[in-house]
Amino acid sequence: MSKTFQVDDKGYYGEFGGAYVPEILYATVENLKKSYLPILESEEFKKEYYDLLKDYVGRPSPLYYAKRMSDKYGCKLYLKREDLNHTGAHKINNTIGQILLAKKMGKTRIIAETGAGQHGVATATVCALMDMPCVVYQGALDVQRQHTNVERMKMLGAEVRPVTSGNMTLKDATNEAIRDWCCHPSDTFYIIGSTVGPHPYPDMVARLQSIISKEIKVQLQEKIGRDYPNYLMACVGGGSNAAGTVYHYIDDNRVKIVLAEAGGKGCDTGHTAATIHAGRLGILHGAKTLVMQTPDGQIMEAETLSAGLDYPGIGPIHANMAEQHRATVYSINDDEAVKAAYELTRMEGIIPALESAHAVAALNKVKFNPEDVVVLTVSGRGDKDVETYLEHKDMAEEYGNF
Ligand SMILES: *Cc1c(COP(=O)(O)O)cnc(C)c1O
Repeated sequence: MSKTFQVDDKGYYGEFGGAYVPEILYATVENLKKSYLPILESEEFKKEYYDLLKDYVGRPSPLYYAKRMSDKYGCKLYLKREDLNHTGAHKINNTIGQILLAKKMGKTRIIAETGAGQHGVATATVCALMDMPCVVYQGALDVQRQHTNVERMKMLGAEVRPVTSGNMTLKDATNEAIRDWCCHPSDTFYIIGSTVGPHPYPDMVARLQSIISKEIKVQLQEKIGRDYPNYLMACVGGGSNAAGTVYHYIDDNRVKIVLAEAGGKGCDTGHTAATIHAGRLGILHGAKTLVMQTPDGQIMEAETLSAGLDYPGIGPIHANMAEQHRATVYSINDDEAVKAAYELTRMEGIIPALESAHAVAALNKVKFNPEDVVVLTVSGRGDKDVETYLEHKDMAEEYGNF
């Protein structure tokens, strides 16, 4: 059999992945492992899922030929517009799928963790839609910093529980969500927001996001008469928008994969979220993967201007793609990302999420041929980041005439 970058039957990607969960969750995770594929592949699930993606989320998201940026970077650049989805990012593709799965498994209560609040909002949204009770754990510091998203979650009917342990950020919220899950394993479904956590979550989330590359295939065929690009580009926090972007191309060597992680102030400054560059093998939230940690194994706080990339781990899919050189991974610093956001805004009239701007900034790092077809996923819209962009407009001086 030829080499594959998809999950193996034990839940691993190379040496990464697996399910390292407390004894009390063993049966719950086993049950999920047995149930998820038969349900996801059933006709009944697919009909409900694709109907909601179409009429509720607004899919397919456009594949837009960015002419001015193409001229600038000397390639044929297409933007996959996940920013145009309902709730403003790709995260809803995953939460819709997981809540349908939860219902089919007979679960009656939803929990989630959130950092910036984007996954919390996407989860609260589908819980309102499906009339399911929803508890979102969020670090107390993030509750303060992300006030608008907290209000959105509450308006949608979710209960937001501020977490006051540790640094009061995402890592602590995740620990608390796992603790809740341990107390209510039979009735509660834990909706994880990225390709992280114990197997089968990374594979399940990648499949639910794979609608992105499924559409890219059809759209490229229509636009250029062939169904694959030369390059796929995406930003990585936990890795879900990138996993969805590459899913149907991951074993296709004609397609190069370029990932952008958040360098923060620089990947060797200690003020970074560039896990693939700065992390070492460890176990985080139930999976063996690369983790940013101190020499004695304490998890380090991730640092980046971009709240959605602020995670000290990385999905096992991406750790493996990086280690096997299937993907080229660039660390993009805060100032490069802010500048790229202004550039996309001024050249194409698209204000991207700060997370997505990391992928845009990576265009600078690659040497393209003029014939190269590049598909870059714009994972979300930048409305939520306008204040950050204004505060840091010194990082984009050439666009500073305002
Ligand atoms: C959450 C988020 C990300 C990072 O998450 P991934 O799982 O790595 O995709 C990227 N972009 C946006 C807009 C987000 O909201």
